[in-house]
Order: sequence, then C-alpha cells, then structure tokens
Amino acid sequence: MSSRILISEIFGPTIQGEGSLIGRPTVFVRTGACDFRCSWCDTLYAVLPEYKAAWTPHSAAEILDKVLLLTNGQPILITLSGGNPALQPLEALLDLGHAHGCTFALETQGSVPKSWFARLDHLVLSPKPPSSGMTTDWATLRQCLDMARVTELQTAAQSTLCGPQTVIKIVVFDEDDYAFARQAHRQFPDVPFVLQSGNSAPAQPHNDWSGGGDDSLAAMSSQRIEWLLEQVTRDGWFDATILPQLHVLLWGNKRGV
Ligand code: SF4
Repeated sequence: MSSRILISEIFGPTIQGEGSLIGRPTVFVRTGACDFRCSWCDTLYAVLPEYKAAWTPHSAAEILDKVLLLTNGQPILITLSGGNPALQPLEALLDLGHAHGCTFALETQGSVPKSWFARLDHLVLSPKPPSSGMTTDWATLRQCLDMARVTELQTAAQSTLCGPQTVIKIVVFDEDDYAFARQAHRQFPDVPFVLQSGNSAPAQPHNDWSGGGDDSLAAMSSQRIEWLLEQVTRDGWFDATILPQLHVLLWGNKRGV
C-alpha cells in the first residue's frame, strides 16, 4: 500500500470553527477524496473527482514541514480533515508530528474504521444526518469508536499512550436531523455529543470563496441555535453541547481560513 497521503490543502494557523475544539488555534491538513457525497458538503473541492488533479501526494515529512513552516517551527494542534481523512495512510504523520510536539484531531464521518484512530489526541466522529442524503452504517460507526476504546484499555496496562478524546458531532438542519441525533445518542449514551447548527449556505459545487461574514448566515445560525436549545430543553438532553460554525459566522464560506 502506498504511504503517500493525498493532500487537497494545508492552511493556517486559523481557529477551529467547529466541535469540541472550537476556538483552538490549529493548522488544517485537508486530504483529498471522500466515500460520501453529502448534499450540503462545503468542501467539494476535496471530494469530487474533477478536482483530483489538484490533490497532491505528500509524504508525512513533507506535510509536517509545511505545517511547521506555517507556525515558525512551533508545535500546534493539527486538524486532519477532508474529504474523508480516514481513507489516507496517516500513521507515519501521527508519529512524526507527535515527536515534534504536535497534537492531532481527526474529523471523519465514521465510515472507515482504522486502528490508528487510537493514536490520535482527538477524534471527532460526524455521522451524517438525513438532510445530507447519506445513510449511516451504525455498526461501522461503532467500530470506529471501538478503535479508540481499544487503546484506552491498552493505556491502562501500558501507561504510555493516551487514547483520543472522542466526541460525536452531528450537523442539524431540521427536525429529521435532530431525531437522527437523538437516535445516535441512544446508541452511544456514553459519548459526548455536539449538536452543530447547519450552515445554510446553498450546497453548490462552486461556492463563492470570496467569503466574508454574512448577516443572513449569522441570523439563520442564531435561529437554529435557539431552536436546538428548545429541542434539548424539551427532551432534557442537557449534556449535549450546542454550537454554531464559528468560521462561517466570521468569514462566511471563504476558503483557507
Ligand atoms: S463526508 Fe464530509 S467531506 Fe465527505 S461529502 Fe460529506 S460533508 Fe463532504
């Protein structure tokens, strides 16, 4: 198997705009290729085959060099996103980055379990709700969680490795998506959940990357947050975390920030 990693883009430092690490300075390493085609995907340039020519194979060392160039050599949280980064051979990058003091967060829909999930610092599993047009294989998602948990058990014995902090993040656009999130929570009650208000920007293959904060996006986001708060209050789901997409509020759909 090739050890080359398909890269769509590397950018930062910026702030993590989503999930449990929201607000943390990070460099994004976005891999190319995805096994899903979500209707509202905002990174189609890392998904669709017509963009494949722009995805360049990198070694782990080449990726880390580019990250450290962006941070003036300082270690940082590296966010592995996509596409679906679980499709890529990332083990060597994790080892190399850790050796330089970096930490890693990986975001994936949970369709491809990998044993090296256990070597991450943060694992964000983001099963896709009905509005995406995709179907979740719950057994496979459970395998992804188990990959992280296996190491947690090993950790107790070895006291050397630390398994990733794992959360499930679900983007919610409507009532069906919220019902999906509830279903997921019933299946995985011990995993922290993040409910993220969906970005209402139209799902177009060629977004306007000029970006900039958008008042209509902000208004829509706050309405969805209020609505989500009503739902979790009605259901007494008070250990859920409700978040907007911070980067969309700040910069709209601008690419590379
Ligand atoms: S899983 Fe993520 S990257 Fe892949 S199509 Fe869906 S939103 Fe886009």
